[in-house]
Amino acid sequence: MSFDQLDLSPALLQAIAEQGYQQPTPVQEQAIPVILQGRDILAGAQTGTGKTAGFTLPLLQRLLNQPQPRKPRSPRALILAPTRELAMQVYQSVRTYGKHAPLFAEVVFGGVNINTQIKRLQRGADILVATPGRLLDLLYQKKVDLAQIQLLVLDEADRMLDMGFIKDIRKIIDGLPARRQNLLFSATYSKEIKVLAEQILHDPVEVAV
Ligand code: AMP
Repeated sequence: MSFDQLDLSPALLQAIAEQGYQQPTPVQEQAIPVILQGRDILAGAQTGTGKTAGFTLPLLQRLLNQPQPRKPRSPRALILAPTRELAMQVYQSVRTYGKHAPLFAEVVFGGVNINTQIKRLQRGADILVATPGRLLDLLYQKKVDLAQIQLLVLDEADRMLDMGFIKDIRKIIDGLPARRQNLLFSATYSKEIKVLAEQILHDPVEVAV
């Protein structure tokens, strides 16, 4: 299979070509069409499988398929990641794959000055990448508005649970619009992951590589 068969915009295909990717990885081949259809997914995928592009590319495409809102923009997609490093990495991927698309991304994580992040958020963003704790702080301070979120990604959900983020994640999800697409990525399937998946995913397609 080639990327051309995946119903992605020229802007995204160009970014993919610039990365030198020849063809989608197995997780991308399985996940991208399903996400483009608007379905929820439960994906078992380790780091190194190309999972980040597997959710980032269709996420960007879903946003591109809509009329672009006026500025300042509120986030329409939220990606939660366990650590600052992973959040940065996902944010860089969003920037890379979206570089020819008229979409803006922002990233927030703990351990750095919150006021700098607040200023950046005020410029508006279509996609927000965040670690749960810092996002919750920003929500309590009413510095971020998640009322427009249509797409939620939980990346490395197993690590987020291991790190004790489950309560924070639940609080964040409680404040999101009910009508949204949910993508859950996890390297392992524990009982806790299954419970979380049952609570937040609607009729998910299971993807395993
Ligand atoms: P990830 O599993 O998302 O951490 O990605 C692992 C690495 O695979 C990253 O360095 C990506 O740049 C690279 N990658 C992602 N998709 C492809 C692809 N279709 N072809 C070649 N490399 C890829």
